[in-house]
Amino acid sequence: MGGLKALAVPRSLGCPVRAAVVGAGFAGLINAVKLLSSGVSVDIYEEHDKVGYPKHCTGLVSLRTARLIGRAAETSIEAVYDYLVLRSGGDELRIRARTVKLDRVRLENALLREAEKLGASVRLGERVASVSPGRGEIELENGERHSGYDIIVLAEGLHGMIRRRLSILWTPRTSMGINLEARCPSRGTLTVLEKEGAWFAWLVPTPRSLVAGALGPRPGGVMRASQSIMKESGCDASREVYGGRVIHGPPMPPDQAVRARFAIVGDAAGLTKPLTGGGLYPNTVLAEIASRELRHGYDLSRAYSLAYETLYKRLRRQFRIARALLEGGILWPAVRALARSYSGALELDYDEHEKALRSIVRTLGFKTVSAAARLVLGAPRALAWLPYVLLP
Ligand SMILES: Cc1cc2nc3c(=O)[nH]c(=O)nc-3n(C[C@H](O)[C@H](O)[C@H](O)COP(=O)(O)OP(=O)(O)OC[C@H]3O[C@@H](n4cnc5c(N)ncnc54)[C@H](O)[C@@H]3O)c2cc1C
Repeated sequence: MGGLKALAVPRSLGCPVRAAVVGAGFAGLINAVKLLSSGVSVDIYEEHDKVGYPKHCTGLVSLRTARLIGRAAETSIEAVYDYLVLRSGGDELRIRARTVKLDRVRLENALLREAEKLGASVRLGERVASVSPGRGEIELENGERHSGYDIIVLAEGLHGMIRRRLSILWTPRTSMGINLEARCPSRGTLTVLEKEGAWFAWLVPTPRSLVAGALGPRPGGVMRASQSIMKESGCDASREVYGGRVIHGPPMPPDQAVRARFAIVGDAAGLTKPLTGGGLYPNTVLAEIASRELRHGYDLSRAYSLAYETLYKRLRRQFRIARALLEGGILWPAVRALARSYSGALELDYDEHEKALRSIVRTLGFKTVSAAARLVLGAPRALAWLPYVLLP
């Protein structure tokens, strides 16, 4: 990382700046679009011959994230929710948080079209075999080499092999997420539930379908939880089943993820919200900050270094909170304690857990929260939690 400091010089105007994006999942595509919008010339390489598949994601993001993604997200919205209900047995906590459900396949196709319109060269059905960051070069499996890139943005997803070939050995914590989607046009609000066998489960009604899903450490328990919610909903239409590994952090350390002419983004670097595994928000923020730094005149490596450092700090802190909530088993007792002490709708930040915790303290008052925390956690563990809640 020390080497990158030397690169903190403004780009010379008029000099063509080139980026290769490896992988056209969400992270690759959003980075491509934001780079193109900042005047960078982008080549996208994707091993599959279409984008958006295999389908795996629920597509839930805050309205703020959808706006930050831009037009592609706006045209992919399937449903908008004003509230999110957290339900544990008979206890319900209403959260005021504007969220949307996006059609992920449509989103990735719209981002690809946007990238093409902005001038990207798109190579679908081309698998990248290796990258040489020092030379700004990539080699395709068919033997072709392309060089002269000012940055290679590696967005190969969790299962990609290129970073392993570069001896970047980093393993995040993961869980299994499964969605069942049935053709039952549904109304109602977004609900997150406590369900046996899962860390949490969800019910997502849209005018076109009903999605019941769950996430947890064991695939069997998660599948049973999803099936049980779908059954309770009364919907018996035929179901599509999809899902995959969900990443809960920690994010890859900055000195591994970003170096001269090279940045790893997306699931490949563990850039997800650690509580839910949501990858759309952090990658949109990363791409947005990097393109802003570019417009300020920094070169590509430095722009990504600055963006990654900012995001890394936030996600590290969220990782600790998420671990305590999920693996520490605090999530549902805390929801029950809050539901019993507050009957209104809490205003919470959907994207950043530490902001959500701080607004819980503000809304309920410190006394109520610390009493609830003591009840749920026991005094010593509650004390250990205070820094997460109070530190800026
Ligand atoms: C069940 C489930 C539910 C989820 N729900 C949400 C949600 O509601 N909200 C949210 O924000 N996030 C959600 N996520 C997370 C989100 O889907 C991911 O964080 C996001 O898709 C990661 O995008 P990515 O581009 O990093 O990786 P990927 O989508 O895996 O894309 C990587 C791409 O790189 C390509 N590739 C790999 N290697 C090469 C190579 N050598 N050459 C060329 N191409 C290559 C792959 O083919 C692939 O297209 C969910 C995930 C799961 C599993």
